[in-house]
Order: sequence, then structure tokens, then C-alpha cells
Amino acid sequence: MTKEILTRCGYRCDLCLAYKENIDKEDRRQVLSDGWFRFFGFRIKAENIYCEGCISSDCLTACLIDKGCPVRPCVIEKGYENCSQCDKYICEKFEERAVRLEDIQDKIQEKIKRNDYRDIIKPYENIKRLNELRERQGQFSRMFNENIKPNEESMKKFIEEKNVVELWDKLINFIEHNYKLDKYINYGGKKYGWEIHYKYGKKTIISIHPERRAFTVLFTFGKKELESFNSIKDQVGKATLDLVDGTKHYHDGKWIWLRVTDNEQLNDVLILLKIKKKPNH
Ligand code: SF4
Ligand code: SF4
Repeated sequence: MTKEILTRCGYRCDLCLAYKENIDKEDRRQVLSDGWFRFFGFRIKAENIYCEGCISSDCLTACLIDKGCPVRPCVIEKGYENCSQCDKYICEKFEERAVRLEDIQDKIQEKIKRNDYRDIIKPYENIKRLNELRERQGQFSRMFNENIKPNEESMKKFIEEKNVVELWDKLINFIEHNYKLDKYINYGGKKYGWEIHYKYGKKTIISIHPERRAFTVLFTFGKKELESFNSIKDQVGKATLDLVDGTKHYHDGKWIWLRVTDNEQLNDVLILLKIKKKPNH
């Protein structure tokens, strides 16, 4: 089965019968052509249906069905993965591509068969999908889309909030001026999203997860690091102290997740980082 491919507007290419990989598997374009006409009111001849998916890495030149989509360029320009991460959701542009099952049901006034729903409506039922994402991710959404690999610049654009981007820069500069570590951009799975990972040999020193208007760092503290932390407890803020004390102890130690939105939190991160690994200078 093809992995989930979520578009900028919340459609699912992996479920869409126009998607090149699905056509290669089984050509059902006539079903799609008829379904689009019946449920959405437009007709594209079956032989003209072919789409490479709008988050294809070559997205500006990719062969797309919906070349006039107003949503995709807007989301890309803003540096988000999809509209659920935008404060203006649901805007007028989005409305142009919004799909609600209830609206289609009202329009056609007859029962929609299960196969028709699966093939023609579900792939594009974006409001339901993006609402669920917003609910699940909350205000600090991460970069969760495996198909959109970020770089450092796009991570900062995603964070957007100027003062948080400055804190991000401070942290990265501190790490790169004070340590000699290997740096990776990793996808940590659907639960954790994209991250910057700094390692010393096989040992992870810190992982940094960009979020909307924040970033969260992860440290794993074993027995030795927790002892060091106890000896400097009075140097960190109460929130950090409570967080470390309240974090569950697993076999590999405590996984300490610290969200940064202000200077005080960044200072605590730097204190924890120095416990994790002594700076070179
Ligand atoms: S038509 Fe839309 S949902 Fe279907 S493959 Fe193309 S971009 Fe994806
Ligand atoms: S302004 Fe509208 S189309 Fe653009 S990212 Fe926000 S919700 Fe999406």
C-alpha cells in the first residue's frame, strides 16, 4: 500500500485515482472522470487524467491536474506543510478547494454508495482531515509530513515568529561554536516529525524539533546526567525543574522535552545541554 501523501490543501494523493502510481497499478480513470462529473460537476476525459501529485519534489514543473490551484502556491510561500497550520484557515482561497461530504450529499440528494465515497470523495475530503490535524497538533504543530523534507531555512520559516527564530539561531550557534558534533536532519516518524539531530559518535546529544511559533528540544538523561542536574537545580526556572522531576524514568533514562518560546527557556536548554556534554571551550 502507498504511504499517506497529504497535499497542501489536505487532499490525499495516495488515495486519488488520478495519481500516477495508482494509474500504474490499476487504470480506473473512467470511474474517476465520471465520478468527478457526478459529484463535483466538472469533466476531464479519462485519457487526460494523470497527476504526479502536488508535493512532488519537482512541484513547480510536475504534471498536475489542478494547475490553477490557489492554495498550493500560498502554502508554499508561507512555508507551511498544509493549511491546517495557518492562522487564516479557512480562508477564501482554501474555500475554492474545500470539500465537505455534507455539501455533496445536499447537492445530489441521493444516497452515496460506499465505493463512490471511497474512490471519488474521500481522497479530497480535506476539511474533515485538516480539522482533525488541527485538533491533534494544537497550536504548536510540528513538521509532520514525511514527503516534505525541510532544510534549516525552511524550518525557521515554518517557526515564523521572529523572536523564536532568534532563539533558534542562538541555540544552533552555541552548539556549532562550542562542540564538534555530527548534524543530521531526520524524520522521527509521525509522532515526532522532522528534527535536527546532533550526535557525538553514536550518542545523541540533542534533538531540536521546529514547531509553529516555538521549538522543542529533547534530551535523554541517564543516571549520571540526572545527578549532575540535581547539583545545579537552583540554576534553572521552576517550570524546567518541575518538568525534569515529573518526567517518567524509562530503562534508558528520562526523555526530557523542553519547549522554547522565550529567553528563560533557552537558558535552561543551554544548562541542560552543558550537562549532556561539556562544551569544548
Ligand atoms: S489530483 Fe490532487 S489529490 Fe490527485 S494526485 Fe493530483 S494533486 Fe494529488
Ligand atoms: S492563507 Fe488560506 S490558502 Fe494560504 S495557507 Fe492560509 S489557509 Fe491556506
